[in-house]
Amino acid sequence: MLLLFDIDGTLLLRAADAHRDAIHEALLVVHGVTDPAERQGSQVAGRTDADIARSLLVQAGVEAAAIDARADDVRIAACEAYGRLCPDDLSAHVAPGMPELLERLAAREDAMLALVTGNYEPIARMKLRAAGIGGHFARGVGGFGSDHEDRAMLPAIARRRAAGEGAEPWPRQRTAVIGDTPRDIACARADGVRVVAIATGPHGPGELTEADAVARDAADLGAVLERWLADATILPA
Ligand SMILES: [Mg+2]
Repeated sequence: MLLLFDIDGTLLLRAADAHRDAIHEALLVVHGVTDPAERQGSQVAGRTDADIARSLLVQAGVEAAAIDARADDVRIAACEAYGRLCPDDLSAHVAPGMPELLERLAAREDAMLALVTGNYEPIARMKLRAAGIGGHFARGVGGFGSDHEDRAMLPAIARRRAAGEGAEPWPRQRTAVIGDTPRDIACARADGVRVVAIATGPHGPGELTEADAVARDAADLGAVLERWLADATILPA
């Protein structure tokens, strides 16, 4: 089974300050936006970096054509800024129980771990390396904010990459999204794959009821995934 993990609010908790600063720096360097609107966590949670950048630029009065034309410049500037701003050690921000769960899943032959995150890929990789859990997520698989501005497109991208070039995409019934927001649930629905929501981000369990399962913590999540992995062995390919 292909397990597609979100990062912020799922694998890492409250580890996004430098990331926000890097995006803001990119908007300043590329578009001269000095004072982007402050957003609440739940407003940006689950959105891709490019989507967040676009909405801040629209609010600052930047024209859509200019946003499109310089989207790559914003991505490059944000990744460069994050390289400077990323804390050396984010291990204290790893969600409790998550390293042990990842170890357990990675040791199974019937589970493949990958990321589906709104983070631009270089930021995602730097963040997880600083947190000490990057080794579980191989390069060349997953879906990132640098692949598409719309999170809904990312699970399908991850299924294509997991299967390899020229092959049929990884099957939907053997794929699950793991994330902390209604947007994670929506992206799974858009691709027709299962989703377990974890209530460790800005949304409580009551706001995540559209998911196929809701977990309160990593222990709960492990129980759901182990049940699904057991079911997947009897599914047709
Ligand atoms: Mg998240």
